[in-house]
Amino acid sequence: AIDFKWIRDNKEAVEINIRNRNSNANLEAVLQLYENMVNLQKEVERLREERNNVAKKMKGKLEPSERERLVEEGKNLKESLVTLEEDLVKLKDELQHVAQSIPNMTHPDVPVGGEDSSAIRQEVGSPREFSFPIKDHLQLGKDLDLIDFDSAAEVSGSKFFYLKNEAVLLEMALLNWTLSQVMKKGYTPLTTPEIVRSSIVEKCGFQPRGDNTQVYSIDGTDQCLIGTAEIPVGGIHMDSILLESALPLKYIAFSHCFRTEAGAAGAATKGLYRVHQFSKAEMFVICQPEDSESFHQELIQIEEDLFTSLGLHFKTLDMATADLGAPAYRKFDIEAWMPGLGRFGEISSASNCTDYQSRRLGIRYRPSEPPQTGPKKGKANLPATKFVHTLNATACAVPRMMVCLLENYQQEDGSVVIPEPLRPFMGGIELIKPKH
Ligand code: AMP
Repeated sequence: AIDFKWIRDNKEAVEINIRNRNSNANLEAVLQLYENMVNLQKEVERLREERNNVAKKMKGKLEPSERERLVEEGKNLKESLVTLEEDLVKLKDELQHVAQSIPNMTHPDVPVGGEDSSAIRQEVGSPREFSFPIKDHLQLGKDLDLIDFDSAAEVSGSKFFYLKNEAVLLEMALLNWTLSQVMKKGYTPLTTPEIVRSSIVEKCGFQPRGDNTQVYSIDGTDQCLIGTAEIPVGGIHMDSILLESALPLKYIAFSHCFRTEAGAAGAATKGLYRVHQFSKAEMFVICQPEDSESFHQELIQIEEDLFTSLGLHFKTLDMATADLGAPAYRKFDIEAWMPGLGRFGEISSASNCTDYQSRRLGIRYRPSEPPQTGPKKGKANLPATKFVHTLNATACAVPRMMVCLLENYQQEDGSVVIPEPLRPFMGGIELIKPKH
């Protein structure tokens, strides 16, 4: 239930927003389709009324010739209605599809501009000073027998990897430790299906088809591999009305993520930084509209606490308009220092999607009933339903965490220190040592 009427009535603001967000949305096409849809809907309603009038007239006493004329008229109306109703369904589908590209509106504090315009919310730590020549995570992975890209390239293709030895334990430890930390904040752990219907992908604001799609589709089906757990988690409550007392719903979901990475290029595509398949723990919140900004702050705080505990040097950015994608109203990315890369790299992203996903997924809630007094008791007096707000945030995307940990915690002798919080989760291992 995209609010097309609102979009039409606020056309100028929507246009400015589309421009600021560097979106390729075609507002004119959407509004034209919407107008066609409204007109067609009116025509359908007019024909239905006419058909009802004919039916009413036929209930009375009639001359046979008059009856025959009305039967004919009723038949013609019915035929026209069937055709127009089919057209209406098609038009509504097309409208939803074209409107998919219209981005969410934007929080007023978001800086307007491209990547360079993002504002720093805070910076934690400082880059580690190394007194010896450092290795990048590819070299460390090879020397410590932790990562095998070559076999994966043969078996699967480029941008896949095998983890080996302590790296496997490190992946599990990162995920288990993250889950245990986030569960302490009241988040419910989940694992999710990793294949979902394309329609859900679309309703969450991702494009499952097209030349530059990031989504792997499964041939001969209407299903896709998920790019993030946000999609199956968002889908859990679709087409439902939640009770206010059930909110907020807070999840920490583990899944693998699959991305085509179409169009990705450059030095940062080497090694673990940009791969086709990775594991991730993702936070997802469903809440009342008035609470979404404070939950956004909670999510960012959790991320910052996690990365601080792991001793990373990072900065949190309030992402500028052109970097928000379609669903986010506001987005904070965290970038951590990656010594091998010699720069900061994105490790997490926290978005407040307000009602962008809930309108498409049909997730509503019913505000608590005010105390009922007087004669107007009963169902008619129930408060109207509203759309919930949804938020998502990365708690731990494993490959880039591995880049950070391997590169930041390397020692002169080629070993890598395991950060303290993770040790109990990997059988007490404190150090990854060269095998020979
Ligand atoms: P996103 O869902 O695109 O905001 O990504 C969330 C996090 O997943 C990013 O901050 C990265 O840490 C990680 N990530 C995204 N894409 C990839 C990829 N292709 N390879 C490895 N990690 C990725």
